[in-house]
Amino acid sequence: MRISIIAGNWKMYKTEEEAFLLASDLKRRLNDVAGVKVIICPPFTGLSSVKKAIENSPILLGAQNMHWEEKGAYTGEISSPMLLTAGCKYVIIGHSERRNLFFETDDAVNLKIKSALKFNLSPIICLGEKLDQREANKTEEVVENQLRRAFKDLSVQEAEKTVIAYEPVWAIGTGKTATPQQANEAHLFIRELLSSEFSRECAEKINILYGGSVKPENSRELLKMSEIDGALVGGASLDAESFEKIVRSAT
Ligand code: PEP
Repeated sequence: MRISIIAGNWKMYKTEEEAFLLASDLKRRLNDVAGVKVIICPPFTGLSSVKKAIENSPILLGAQNMHWEEKGAYTGEISSPMLLTAGCKYVIIGHSERRNLFFETDDAVNLKIKSALKFNLSPIICLGEKLDQREANKTEEVVENQLRRAFKDLSVQEAEKTVIAYEPVWAIGTGKTATPQQANEAHLFIRELLSSEFSRECAEKINILYGGSVKPENSRELLKMSEIDGALVGGASLDAESFEKIVRSAT
């Protein structure tokens, strides 16, 4: 039985103090919540204040990116052990903004996933097609290629510790959402791929989240689909009331 996950990706928003205030508000609102895992992913500079704010609450901490090396001369980068000791349990890897704006490759995604797993961080691995790829009927080809390359050389035990976020690029931050049926179809395809790459049992254990303009107005419809095991929420996670509503729609 998979427990739904609602993860908030705060992107490059919130100063340290603003992050503390938002996380404190979420702790107050979500303290009684059960039957759903809640993760918030502030920018690196907010990790420490958010960690303090969510102490003794069910909310878990995640980061938005990392480098695959443990340490070294990589100016501006952050490693898995750094995230782990900062209190993170999760890390988003391969978000489309990183792939498209910062030229992150599938090979880099694969290295990052392996490093996260080595340090007991669960990677939230983002996959998804662009609009022109969907229009050219290439969604499955794109997603399959991203998935196979992301999971290259992972063991079944490692794969089971991952979370996948299917995020059609055309739906991120655009206000356009995939219909529940479109999303469910893509999730089903991803689960079949996981089953053929690893095993049916392994595929059944992996949460597949949907991401792309999830809001309180559409979350319930999306989350009731059989293959949608939660949501990765960008814009709407920056507002405590909206995020609370999305979390509650998963319970
Ligand atoms: C995201 O950042 O992963 C995301 C899905 O953003 P939004 O909810 O704003 O579309």
